Amino acid sequence: MRRVSIFGATGSIGQSTLSLLRAAPEGSYALEAVTGGHNVAQLAHDARAHCAGLAVTAYPDEYQALKDHLSGTGIEAAAGVDALIEAAERPADWVMSAIIGAAGLAPGLAALRQGKILALANKESLVAAGPLLLAEARKHGATILPVDSEHSGIFQALRGEDTETVDTVTLTASGGAFRDWPLDRLATATPAEAANHPNWSMGQRITIDSASMFNKSMEIIETHAFFGFSPEQIDVLIHPESLVHALVRFADGGVIAHLGPPDMRHAIGFALNWPDRVTLPVDRLDLSKVGQLNFSAPDPARYPALRLAYGVIDAGGLAGAAFTAAKETALDAFIAGEIRFTDMVGVVETVLERHIGGGGAKSPDIGFESIQLTNTLARDAARQIIAKRRNNR
Ligand code: NAD
Ligand code: MG
Repeated sequence: MRRVSIFGATGSIGQSTLSLLRAAPEGSYALEAVTGGHNVAQLAHDARAHCAGLAVTAYPDEYQALKDHLSGTGIEAAAGVDALIEAAERPADWVMSAIIGAAGLAPGLAALRQGKILALANKESLVAAGPLLLAEARKHGATILPVDSEHSGIFQALRGEDTETVDTVTLTASGGAFRDWPLDRLATATPAEAANHPNWSMGQRITIDSASMFNKSMEIIETHAFFGFSPEQIDVLIHPESLVHALVRFADGGVIAHLGPPDMRHAIGFALNWPDRVTLPVDRLDLSKVGQLNFSAPDPARYPALRLAYGVIDAGGLAGAAFTAAKETALDAFIAGEIRFTDMVGVVETVLERHIGGGGAKSPDIGFESIQLTNTLARDAARQIIAKRRNNR
């Protein structure tokens, strides 16, 4: 029996993970801890349904409500950032890191220090702190398994292969909600329009990031951070069907592609059962029904966020931390109606210019504290830029 904890259990990835636990043969998994945010009714419901040992909300003002929902069950309730870290320190064989944003880093690091398996959906922590996560994993004998569909695909294509023989890796992208919009309409796009993904059902934030390609930009950095491929080896293809998730081309010209329906339960289930493969409740791909797969190069004018990823990799150091923090702040401002869809990239680029240009990003000291500090500085800088733009409107 695998003992499992799920961070960000109430979100899209967390709920898919729980659904896999429910679909598995009785006795395959036991749930140790689940965490969530404001949705404490859902969190308590899931904790009860799976007989979890502990449920944690990230927000102390939700503690009483969570405790009330759990009264009489014997399930422990806790709240706050320290409680998230304590939950990660509980013994578990397998931990899902599916909190969204920079808040996922500290619990992820705490879980790695247990020396077990960390299934990493929280791509922001790899972008901000890839070398730190990998070093902690090595130090404590822990394993990180990628849960992004593209990275799970690459990981599977590389099974048994020597990474030295890899020529290039290609990440596919659906092109998001605005793939076919006229370019001059993008400036008027609303958050609701951007949160409408053609193929994948995901959380609101990552869906908007798919429309802007900030998601793919993060994934380019994630590919570099996790697998160590150079920027020149990583490219992106628009693939509207979202059936081919990643392609790895080897020195001999052979290409291994990973295909499957657009359902995160495959990547999650692969990680959940790794190194084994088990039957998973996902649709089977029937290419005779699909008939045709399309691919094209991304248009840099439509997706300017892609370009930023390569600059972040070249800069190294703390640039990834600045990038994710600025991106999150710009996304918040777009969702709040403070800036236009097309303004997000300029906000992030300006923050990067300041941080990378300022020398701070090149500091060799990339411990947790400097990442947190960069996160705060980049958010402040992004907010200032956003406020200035609003005043100039
Ligand atoms: P989501 O918004 O649906 O869920 C986020 C979860 O994190 C929720 O449980 C929420 O309560 C929790 N949370 C939010 N803010 C928090 C904070 N400050 N502290 C602690 N917990 C907090 O997000 P999602 O779509 O499930 O994505 C989760 C992660 O997985 C992200 O990093 C995303 O990039 C990645 N990912 C998601 C998908 C997908 O299909 N949804 C695919 C690939 C990667
Ligand atoms: Mg992805």
